[in-house]
Amino acid sequence: MTEPQRRVLVSGGSSGIGAAIARAFAATGAEVQATAASETEAQAAAARPEMAGIACRALDVRDAEAVAREVAALGELDVVVNCAGIIRRGAELDPAAFEQVVDINLNGTMRICAAARAGLKARRGCIVNTASMLSFFGGGLVPGYSASKGGVAQLTKSLAIAYAADGIRVNAIAPGWIATPLTQGLQDDAARTAQILARTPLGRWGTPEDIAGPVLFLASPEARFVTGAVLPVDGGYLIT
Ligand code: NDP
Repeated sequence: MTEPQRRVLVSGGSSGIGAAIARAFAATGAEVQATAASETEAQAAAARPEMAGIACRALDVRDAEAVAREVAALGELDVVVNCAGIIRRGAELDPAAFEQVVDINLNGTMRICAAARAGLKARRGCIVNTASMLSFFGGGLVPGYSASKGGVAQLTKSLAIAYAADGIRVNAIAPGWIATPLTQGLQDDAARTAQILARTPLGRWGTPEDIAGPVLFLASPEARFVTGAVLPVDGGYLIT
């Protein structure tokens, strides 16, 4: 008997880490929906050759009503990956910027999880959230980002307990320093890049593809007894 095709939703699947995850699931034969913040970005992603076969759509995770309606409309789901996120380095000491970052990174993750719960329950599916190195330590220039990612780690553990009775596993990855548009400012800063690489035992920036493999594992039957885990994928940054 052949397995039914897996149905996967990747929020923030239009760019960087999320796009690599969407492509990795598509390469396994899954039916993948990748979301962007705006219609313009969704169309731009859909036009990229490497995104062929992946359905790209706009879904702003700040819009609670749209998230509830559109995720429910997807029906049964095997995997939800929450990758939508922003950082406003240097601006987040302003409470308005702080609130914006927390609303997307943390509240947005919760909105998607809640909206997907019934569809995941139907297939005993799983969630993979995106935490960060800043789930574990503070960032003086990014208090909103750090608070949001600490929150994502705690949310992951809490939903792992809450959703277990539905057969839904909830885990997170905590990427190290990954070369994407989100870190372009750091990549362009030679002094910060040197600091990051000096503290990373594997001695390089991570790639979005470095993150996709561990996500595939967490979403696989091989990880059937793993829930509530926050898995660093960081070239060893956290251990130094
Ligand atoms: P990118 O900027 O490349 O991707 C961010 C994604 O989030 C895009 O798809 C973007 O959509 C989407 N997004 C932003 N705002 C919203 C919104 N309001 N509603 C819906 N989607 C939104 O960054 P990365 O790939 O680097 O980041 C992906 C995740 O990984 C984030 O959660 C980030 O915090 C996390 N992370 C990244 C690290 C890194 O070093 N790069 C390290 C640790 C964690 P659009 O294309 O429309 O802009």
